[in-house]
Amino acid sequence: MIKITDVKAYITCPDGMNLVVVRVDTNHPGLYGFGCATYTQRCKAVQTAVEEYIKPLILGRNAEEIQELWSLMYHNGYWRNGPVVNNAVAGVDMALWDIKGKVANMPVYSLLGGKCREGIALYSYANGSSREEILEEAEKRMDEGFHYIRLQYFPMKGYSQMQREGKPRNAKNGFYQDSRAYMQEIVGLFENARDSLGFGPELIHDVHERIPAADAVCLAKEMEPLKLFFLEDLFAPEQYEYYQHVKQVCTTPLAHGELCTNPVEWQRLIAGRLIDFIRIHFSMIGGLTPSLKLAHFSEIFGIRTAWHGPTDMNPVGHVAQMHVGLASTNFGIQEWSGFGDAMHDVFEGIPVVDKGYAYVNDKPGFGVEFNAEQAKKYPPKEEIVEWTQFRQTDGSLFTP
Ligand code: MG
Repeated sequence: MIKITDVKAYITCPDGMNLVVVRVDTNHPGLYGFGCATYTQRCKAVQTAVEEYIKPLILGRNAEEIQELWSLMYHNGYWRNGPVVNNAVAGVDMALWDIKGKVANMPVYSLLGGKCREGIALYSYANGSSREEILEEAEKRMDEGFHYIRLQYFPMKGYSQMQREGKPRNAKNGFYQDSRAYMQEIVGLFENARDSLGFGPELIHDVHERIPAADAVCLAKEMEPLKLFFLEDLFAPEQYEYYQHVKQVCTTPLAHGELCTNPVEWQRLIAGRLIDFIRIHFSMIGGLTPSLKLAHFSEIFGIRTAWHGPTDMNPVGHVAQMHVGLASTNFGIQEWSGFGDAMHDVFEGIPVVDKGYAYVNDKPGFGVEFNAEQAKKYPPKEEIVEWTQFRQTDGSLFTP
């Protein structure tokens, strides 16, 4: 039996974002696995959940029994579906898949049924604080070989220039946005993009749930002639029922899911065919095990995958999504935020990107190594999260 002998959670910050890496060791010399448990905004809580609650629960257990262990970790705390525990479970879950691949001497995609494509198609970012900057960036991405590009005002302070009304006296600090001005700006941006880039490249935009739900329905309708690949996260989790309204008025493809943590949140959206792409964040729902089930569930309803791939995910998390993507017939697209040099200092086996496609290596498991010694060079950042303090023009907080 392959016994679990140790479970550790590391926090490191090579690229300016706190990342949580889980390592699971076994009683077989040299046999261990890595997972992503990154909930960057609450990383210490995840570390505690892994080391103080999950570790004592699974020490000495059979590392090969992933389904049994996943269910045990997920239900053991009785209350479930929160992002802290989901990430803790996910970190261990991915490490167990990594171990299973090493035991089988196969890359994980092979364990999942084998490749049905050779490369993972990526979408990259054209970020900027003006239309000109964003369009210039888009042209650079096209020159690099990307066919799928997300156009976005970013960093988020960029939105503050879209103010039509002044702030009230004593308005608090935060990220301000006038929703109606933003909508007008985004439609204008994409009209300019189609004029200058044509309809060849596939274009994407992320609303990030930052406008009132009724306005979001209008935005999807106004974007219809601009033929997006998808429009992402129109609604906050509390307003998912609005997807029915959008589907009744336009054909703009819709992607959704990065804020989901609970299976109840996506069941109806998928079974009702109210979204076109499911884009949950693997570690936020508990790792590869539930995400694989979700991929298969989505396939039955003709919904493609577009897993969330931001900078607050370690390379094991990115690669885990790609292994599922390689083995999923309903793979749609993968978000790619790229890695800086410091990440290569800490992780080996980061996917190679060439002309809009990512390639994982064919080593057993996920093929990613984490160097805990090197990681110490990049200690965690201690700071209050600001970008989620998102405000409407009158200064009131709004769902980020
Ligand atoms: Mg998003």
